[in-house]
Amino acid sequence: MDLESFVRDVPNFPKEGVVFKDVTPLLKDPLAFRECILRLSEKAMKVDFNIMVAPEARGFIFAAPLAFEIGKALVPVRKPGKLPYKTKEIEYELEYGRATLQMHVDAINRGDRVLIVDDILATGGTMQAIAEMIEESGGEVVEILCLAELGFLEPRKRLSRYSVETLITY
Ligand code: IMP
Repeated sequence: MDLESFVRDVPNFPKEGVVFKDVTPLLKDPLAFRECILRLSEKAMKVDFNIMVAPEARGFIFAAPLAFEIGKALVPVRKPGKLPYKTKEIEYELEYGRATLQMHVDAINRGDRVLIVDDILATGGTMQAIAEMIEESGGEVVEILCLAELGFLEPRKRLSRYSVETLITY
């Protein structure tokens, strides 16, 4: 199945000049979504890890069925003010401005082997920030797994310290 045909290009979203990769058609097709989770599972099962970490919001959509399918723990990374317990956070640069992400302080422990999951890998900034937060907690990032990567933004350069796997490359 050609999963790429279920990802729609939306020009000028969220701002002029950006072509946004919209995964909602893939979610709306039960066979394509299932196929996508199974293909991510195949990749994830090759990796020796114990915890999956995913950022809101689209990361949750892919990580939850994946964690369920392969029987792994799932840790959410969220925007500020959403997590109920004590949090640690990381602030990072976006193309325009800065963003902050939070994780529960007890979510990752020393020695945890972590797989980070998200939908689209663009500049790699979000993944880099999450990886730093995991490493500060003593975890090791063993792989970054995404549905698709925007190769023209060269996220792998920025993430050269990590193993990166994706199903689709643009
Ligand atoms: P990065 O930090 O530049 O790699 O951006 C990745 C984050 O932004 C991910 O959490 C994605 O969900 C989101 N993102 C960036 N570009 C797109 C896109 O074209 N479609 C969907 N999500 C995107």
